Amino acid sequence: MLHRGDMRALLPEDGGDYDVLVAGAGPAGFGAALAASRLGARTLLLEARGFPGGIAATSLWMPMNRLFKDGTSRGGVHELLVRRLQRFGPAACRPGKVTWTDGDGLHVHPEYLKEAMLELLEEARCSYRLYSPVVDAEVEEGTLRAVYAATPEGRQRFTARVFIDCTGDGALSFAAGAKTAVGREGDGRTMPITLGFALGNVDEERLFAFYDQKNTELSLSDVVDRGREKGYLMSNWYSFDRTTVPGVVSVNNGGLPGEDGALNALHPADRTFAHRAGLRLALDFVQLAHELPIPGLEHCALLETGASVGVRETRRVRCDYVVTLEDAKNGARFPDVVARRYGAVDQAGLSDGEGERPAMQSGYDFPYRALLVSGLEGLLVAGRCGSYTHMGLAAGKSMGNMMAIGQAAGAAAACACALERTPRALHYKEVQIALTVLGAVL
Ligand SMILES: Cc1cc2nc3c(=O)[nH]c(=O)nc-3n(C[C@H](O)[C@H](O)[C@H](O)COP(=O)(O)OP(=O)(O)OC[C@H]3O[C@@H](n4cnc5c(N)ncnc54)[C@H](O)[C@@H]3O)c2cc1C
Repeated sequence: MLHRGDMRALLPEDGGDYDVLVAGAGPAGFGAALAASRLGARTLLLEARGFPGGIAATSLWMPMNRLFKDGTSRGGVHELLVRRLQRFGPAACRPGKVTWTDGDGLHVHPEYLKEAMLELLEEARCSYRLYSPVVDAEVEEGTLRAVYAATPEGRQRFTARVFIDCTGDGALSFAAGAKTAVGREGDGRTMPITLGFALGNVDEERLFAFYDQKNTELSLSDVVDRGREKGYLMSNWYSFDRTTVPGVVSVNNGGLPGEDGALNALHPADRTFAHRAGLRLALDFVQLAHELPIPGLEHCALLETGASVGVRETRRVRCDYVVTLEDAKNGARFPDVVARRYGAVDQAGLSDGEGERPAMQSGYDFPYRALLVSGLEGLLVAGRCGSYTHMGLAAGKSMGNMMAIGQAAGAAAACACALERTPRALHYKEVQIALTVLGAVL
């Protein structure tokens, strides 16, 4: 049973002081907060939206890839989340698809995901607050000392020994004055912004036979061409995911055509436009599906669009090491490995580079140095706003990998607090030991 009284200790009403403060509760922030609190650090997780999960929650059943490695457990926070989801039964999750980008994942019902994440955080005695965007930072002699969260009652100040930026946009690092970069080197273009949507009343067998190009004359590119001829707003590509609800599928797409990475989700006007256009894309797709018709979608209905647009790429924060495409291609091994990245190099349709689709053989190491924000003490960064080149980000950006990097940051932060040192003063072996304690498989 949930009682407000029991939850009071976990839901701070005002600012306060913590060992570890994590900003952003997407896959990376969830991994960081759960790891830090399970290692005994007094941890606070601040999330801007009204739910945890980040893109995993807003992308409506898109597979959370790389929750496993070759079908076996990655241990640590991955195993805890997977077990909790599976405990809810088939309503909560089902095996993910396997394509050149996808694998070792689960399609997860967004509401069960939110519940599973909150339960695990509560059991680890992790304090958290939703509706609490971090908007400012206080730096003293090169050390991050405090952050401010915006609330209807005004700004609240939180102090901590170690902060972890998992906001996806690098919002905390930016506020603290860290060096950041956006988009492709050279022209700043970013991977597409997508408003996912879910369709009901779908004949799944016929839709997926069409999607897999079995017994069908029509191709997906014909659908896009026919939609454009009819004057509908069409994306360059669409993909379909099964869900945990019979007759319901989730639709991913390449966002707004013609923009090719020119929309920058850091600009509120661009993000607003992407959401506006994403809504029209969804409605037009349904209309077209009825008219053509698209096999299996003759009688489909639009159930919902995501609670917000899915942003694949904005700021990347500069750390003591920058992860590159070469690391992925070479299967890099580092002595200070704290996480592993598996899967594909995927720019989600942004032109050039995509054609190459270099395979990532058996994965590569993510080094501890890539968590330490350059020029600042007391601040780590994890997730999609981490320290990569543009293609380095594309090389293994799946949710399971981001959760692994978050877990590493949480372990390092807890370790630094326990040993009363800054994260930069830790020996990487100390972080690796903490990861072993969590049961993480590197
Ligand atoms: C459309 C789309 C489809 C994708 N498809 C897949 C897929 O099928 N499989 C897969 O594995 N991966 C997929 N990815 C990639 C994957 O979702 C991301 O790489 C991953 O979610 C990144 O995790 P994150 O925690 O770093 O960021 P996010 O998931 O973006 O989470 C960031 C969190 O921080 C919060 N936040 C932001 N600003 C603040 C602030 N100032 N203060 C507090 N909180 C803040 C946000 O609300 C959010 O909850 C997809 C991405 C997109 C956009």
